[in-house]
Amino acid sequence: MPTPAENNPLPPGNPGPASKPDAPGDYRNHLATADQEGRRLWVYPRKPAGRFYRARTYVSWILLGIMFMGPFIRIRGNPLLLLNVIERKFIILGNIFWPQDMILSAVTLLIFVTGILIFTAAFGRLWCGWTCPQTVLMEMVFRKIEYAIEGDAGAQRQLDRAPWSPGKVFKKTTKHLVFFGLSFLVGNTLLAYVIGTEKLFMIVTDNPATHHTGLTFMVLFSVLFYAIFARFREQACTFICPYGRHQATVMDENTILVAYDYKRGENRAPLHRNQSAPERKASGQGDCIDCHQCVAVCPTGIDIRNGTQMECVNCTACIDACDAVMEKTNQPRGLVRFASLNGIERGESLRFTPRLAAYCIVLSGLIGLWLFLVFTRSDVEATVLRAQGALFQQMPDGRFSNLYTVRVINKTSHPLPIELKLEEPAGQLQVLGHELLVPGEKLVETSLLIELENTALKHGTTPVRIGVYSGPRKISTVKTAFIGPRNDTPQ
Ligand code: SF4
Ligand code: SF4
Repeated sequence: MPTPAENNPLPPGNPGPASKPDAPGDYRNHLATADQEGRRLWVYPRKPAGRFYRARTYVSWILLGIMFMGPFIRIRGNPLLLLNVIERKFIILGNIFWPQDMILSAVTLLIFVTGILIFTAAFGRLWCGWTCPQTVLMEMVFRKIEYAIEGDAGAQRQLDRAPWSPGKVFKKTTKHLVFFGLSFLVGNTLLAYVIGTEKLFMIVTDNPATHHTGLTFMVLFSVLFYAIFARFREQACTFICPYGRHQATVMDENTILVAYDYKRGENRAPLHRNQSAPERKASGQGDCIDCHQCVAVCPTGIDIRNGTQMECVNCTACIDACDAVMEKTNQPRGLVRFASLNGIERGESLRFTPRLAAYCIVLSGLIGLWLFLVFTRSDVEATVLRAQGALFQQMPDGRFSNLYTVRVINKTSHPLPIELKLEEPAGQLQVLGHELLVPGEKLVETSLLIELENTALKHGTTPVRIGVYSGPRKISTVKTAFIGPRNDTPQ
């Protein structure tokens, strides 16, 4: 069995997270990946193996497929997901959301946040270890490439310690070229989610001189992802990610997370040659043989035996490592497993607590509101405002007219002919200029004249209702005001 020092290979001058065992409670005073002076301690996690790692690999294939194919998937001609913050246009599951859909977007965001709260309260950071793009790309793509080129943790440490040689230059150059190529791919995928595949292809195929901004972002995203996956790594989860930082406010003693069964594991002690499991028990030793295998595989450099820690992303690598040790030492698996604190202390399974119930009620209410907003949301949004600075006009036949500016947004992806009809009061409505045909996903602005009889006018301001039609289908009703002379004005 490797010693702790062998399991935590480090470059010269870097003592590393696990080669310096923490004093009891000391792990809470400093980060596992920083020394007392705050210098970075590089983590060399050993390659995990086991049933959870296999399951994570299969899940990652599906997620990576969705992530890279996402920009090309179309629903009713629209992308699966487009988050165009530049033009403030958002498409989710093929549905276009405009800035005018702000309430719907806000409710969608609230549902997302509440869903995460419930999920975290019940299952801890399962999202982080299994589905977060940062972890999936880091552990299932970049890390695997690193293992393939530089070898497992021990070989990586030796390579870093070794003087520069043609072999080292070759390995390091190959790794970083592959890393940058992949970062370019990831950066372009992100860009495709922001500007869409059509614009991205235009940037790639057109004259570069005409796409300075797009090309700049392409380079920036590539460099950013390269920096994250080649150097920053687990620090993104520890320092940057707000979800990781707020988890402690949501989790409680009933939350299921990756945990060390201290009741079973302590009193930990190394395994003596030919010592059987019953002999250990009889001598008062726990099941943990203090082999540090769970620490050696941890990508954030922590010791799960110290309890729940902010750095733990619930990747389950330590479960696999410990299960392998338990099998070798003829002890039951699950010394490190998915469990809650109450599960370990009292053998309780996941409980539906009042806090979870309250979250679920809030979530149900939000989903109800979201459904209402979606089903009552119209394909066309029209606003009619009186033209700036224009007063009413009296016509030769005695009627009065007001000039308006009308704006129509077509939220669908196909062109819509729009007709406006005056519903109240009786009078005439005339769209100035040509027929109102609004192209898909576009806004059209034009002028509108309304003429009313003097008898239809109320004192000063008359409320007006205009029906918005597309063919025979009425889409919405718009309210505005008609300014006329006050009744006491001499005619
Ligand atoms: S403690 Fe275990 S589950 Fe948590 S990050 Fe480390 S290896 Fe993953
Ligand atoms: S928890 Fe398991 S893997 Fe970790 S030191 Fe103890 S026996 Fe080894």
